[in-house]
Amino acid sequence: MTRMFVPGPVDVAPEVLEAQTKPMLPHRSKDFEAIFRGTEEKARQLFYTQFRVYQAASSGSGMQEAGIRNFVQNDVLSCINGAFAQRWYDVALANGKTADKLEVEYGEAITPELLRDALKKKHYEAVTIVHNETSTGVENPLADLCAVVKEISPDTLILVDAVSSLGGVKIEMDKLGVDFLLTSSQKCLALPPGLALAAATDRALAKAENVSNRGWYFDLLLMEKHRVKDSTPMTPAMALIFALDRQLDRILAEGLDARFARHAAMARRVQEWASGHGMEPLAKPQYRSKTVVTIKNSLNWDISALNKFLQTRGMRIANGYGKIKDLTYRVATMGETSMADIEVLLAAMEDYMKQG
Ligand SMILES: *Cc1c(COP(=O)(O)O)cnc(C)c1O
Repeated sequence: MTRMFVPGPVDVAPEVLEAQTKPMLPHRSKDFEAIFRGTEEKARQLFYTQFRVYQAASSGSGMQEAGIRNFVQNDVLSCINGAFAQRWYDVALANGKTADKLEVEYGEAITPELLRDALKKKHYEAVTIVHNETSTGVENPLADLCAVVKEISPDTLILVDAVSSLGGVKIEMDKLGVDFLLTSSQKCLALPPGLALAAATDRALAKAENVSNRGWYFDLLLMEKHRVKDSTPMTPAMALIFALDRQLDRILAEGLDARFARHAAMARRVQEWASGHGMEPLAKPQYRSKTVVTIKNSLNWDISALNKFLQTRGMRIANGYGKIKDLTYRVATMGETSMADIEVLLAAMEDYMKQG
């Protein structure tokens, strides 16, 4: 088996892959509805929310679009410090919204000061924030950003993409006052791709009532009507729900705090290793991601040659993403990866350096 130190899709535990081979059920049956209710209840623990969690057949980007279409009639502020935040801005424009950018250099974080200034200049229905920028390895200071929104513009909805952090880093949705929090299956949840999970508050759904052109497939009010009956308007991705059910049990058995600590320790180890070999992480120390380390390619490695070498040992890392593709490379520290795996990877990277 290849060890994927790539920020999605990550390795999936054999028993979770196996769960997908369960025989299908009619989706409008008590048997399936019980499973669907169970996955939502367990997922709520990962979201730290008392509100609902939608389980949709799409990748995470579908929920970026859902957030825009349901909660924004016109004006949204897009916080941009990397490629996935830029995508959410592009999604807003593609849906005909007026999106303003609050943009900083790749590798920097969105700071509360910058957000404060932006919110004072204009009123927004919603602000979009990517919690963990998978392109740059930057974790934005979400608690501080949420506090600024509450202070300056309390009715502005806070929409958060946590695709590469939810289930791997503690994000207390209700405590922070996040209104919409979304993730994908193939990253920290260590499932196959194809499923998106997103939680929404009551006040977010109340806002959606007044937004026109929400579309159909991602109309959260329509989804809500079915969710209260443990169902979906359309056919759910049943095999993935079976896998989710199994994986949520595994995640909760590990313990969320233990899981978060495991990821953080691996990220620290990789960051220190990189610094020790003359390659600094791109992010400043206080904003470094716990699930993906983006490292400056200071030694000008040919990352595809490095990956060819690593693949002879059954491993794979990621090159940079977007406009910093060749300037950086990335090591994911999420999902099923263990510290022992990280040690094997770092030893192999040292062998690669020696063979020069
Ligand atoms: C991977 C990623 C996305 C895109 O998710 P898909 O599931 O591929 O649609 C969006 N945001 C972040 C932060 C990501 O890491």
